[in-house]
This record gives sequence, C-alpha cells and structure tokens, in this order.
Amino acid sequence: MKVLLFSMQKDTEGLGLKFIHYDLLAQGHDSSILFLPRFHLESVGRRQELKRFIDTHAPGLVGVSLMSQEYEKARILTRFLKEYVPSLPVIWGGIHPTIDPTSCLEEADYVCIGEGEQTMREVCALLDRNQPITGVGNLCYLEQGTLRRNPLYPLLANLDTLPSYEHVAHNSFILHRETIQPLTPQINRHYAPYLGRTYSVLSSRGCPFACSYCCNSLFNQLYQDKKIRRRSVEHVIQELERAIRDYPELKMINIQDDCFLAYNIKQVRQFFAEYNRRIGLPFIVHVIPTYLTEEKM
Ligand code: SF4
Repeated sequence: MKVLLFSMQKDTEGLGLKFIHYDLLAQGHDSSILFLPRFHLESVGRRQELKRFIDTHAPGLVGVSLMSQEYEKARILTRFLKEYVPSLPVIWGGIHPTIDPTSCLEEADYVCIGEGEQTMREVCALLDRNQPITGVGNLCYLEQGTLRRNPLYPLLANLDTLPSYEHVAHNSFILHRETIQPLTPQINRHYAPYLGRTYSVLSSRGCPFACSYCCNSLFNQLYQDKKIRRRSVEHVIQELERAIRDYPELKMINIQDDCFLAYNIKQVRQFFAEYNRRIGLPFIVHVIPTYLTEEKM
C-alpha cells in the first residue's frame, strides 16, 4: 500500500509518526512522511505544489497526525485533499483525535484511537486486498451519521518488536521554501529542535500517573492500564549507536520518556553502564519528582 503520512507539528520530530512510518516500511508498505511545519494554503503556488506532490506519490491512504493545537491546520489540509482526490481515505490519529474523535470525524473519514501501529498495519493489509476496513480495531467512523467505535487492540506488549527509526526519516519530505523536497540533514537543521543536533529517543511508553490535564489520564482510562512498557536496554542502546554512527553531528540525546527515572535503581545503573560505555553524549531526561532520588541523580 502506498501511504502518505502528514505531520502537522511545528518541527520535524514527530516520534509517534516515525514509529508508524518505520513499522509500515518494515511490513513492506511504501510509506512516506510529509512534514508541514509552517503550513498554510493561502497561496496558489502552495496549493499547486501540494497537488503536484500528491500526483507524483499517488497515495492509496493518507494518515494525519495531530495534537489539539494542530487541529485547524489538519482541517485545512484534509478539506484540500478531499476536494482534490475525493476517493482518498484519510485517517486522523494522535492525541487530539484520541481525545475527541467525534469532532475530528467532521473532517476525516476515520479516526484512530490510541496506539496506532497495529491499526495501520491492518488497514494497509486490507486496502491492499481491496477489502473494507470498517472492522479494524481502534478505528472510529460515522455510519449514516452514527458514531461507530471499534474495540481497541491490546497495547503492544513488546516494544522491542518495533523497528527503530532514523534521525532524519527515510522517505520523508518537507515543504521548505514553497517547494516540497526530500528532507535532508541540511534542511532538517532549519526545523528540528536544537538545530538537529539532538537525537530524540523513546525507551518506554506510558506513565503510572494520571494527571487530569495530561493525555496519559485518558490513555490509562482507555486501556485500563497504568503500566510503563519498556524497551530492553540493548534495543535502545543499539538504536543510539546507529544514530551517532550515521549522524556524527549529534551532540546530545533527548530521552523523551514521560518518566525515565521510573526505572528502579538497578535498571538505571544497567542502562547507564551501557550508555556511558557505548554512547557517552550528554543527555536530557524527563523526571517526575517523586521518582527522583539522590542515588539516581
Ligand atoms: S506525571 Fe507527567 S506524564 Fe504522567 S500523567 Fe502526570 S503530567 Fe502526564
């Protein structure tokens, strides 16, 4: 299946979308990402450029990843796509569609709730066989105006089964200076956090807390699960080794886990024994104060 994934974020990080993209590539699908960091469609030139790109790539499926602040851009993009290629199925996913699928279905054909890898695999496999996708887990859609909400797939139990992504994603493009071009490390510097010199990694998913203002409270409710799922130390370190080998300009690692120090002291020691020996770059971690001890510092 030819899939085109759109990132509406203001930068080129998009870790969730990169996970989906690399997972689809590993499943043998022809996936591309188009980053639209400063998106608008106010000029004729931009609209023409987007049409040219759609014509060239001829996707059979579009995925749009968005957070709440990107809703308006996603809406403009989706209306444009539906007007240009009405038959093209558009799935919205990410935090905002998970929170509010009903309003998102005013724009998108389908909304993917929660973790998206399994859903996108199934959708692509079914579309490849010209079969309907209305039974796929995690999908919401409208049927004669009534909201249909399919059951959720279980959360991925073993995150080590997911392929690692690259700092600058393979098969990725960006709207840069009014033209859509392949995303290169040089262009990435204009849009990536820290001038592209920091590699972002997720060694775990989830948070044991449920602060009411945070999407984790909804995820914990949806899945009735507050466990943190962790990748193995070796899987993370191998990804980082590849990143610093392939991108020597990297100067720092940003560990984007919601709470990296929820690891117990034995796990922290095990991780940093390998990290210090094989990676050694300065790093950033996010910490929930209750997990911070002098020993871990
Ligand atoms: S501790 Fe942080 S990541 Fe966890 S639920 Fe609260 S705000 Fe979200």
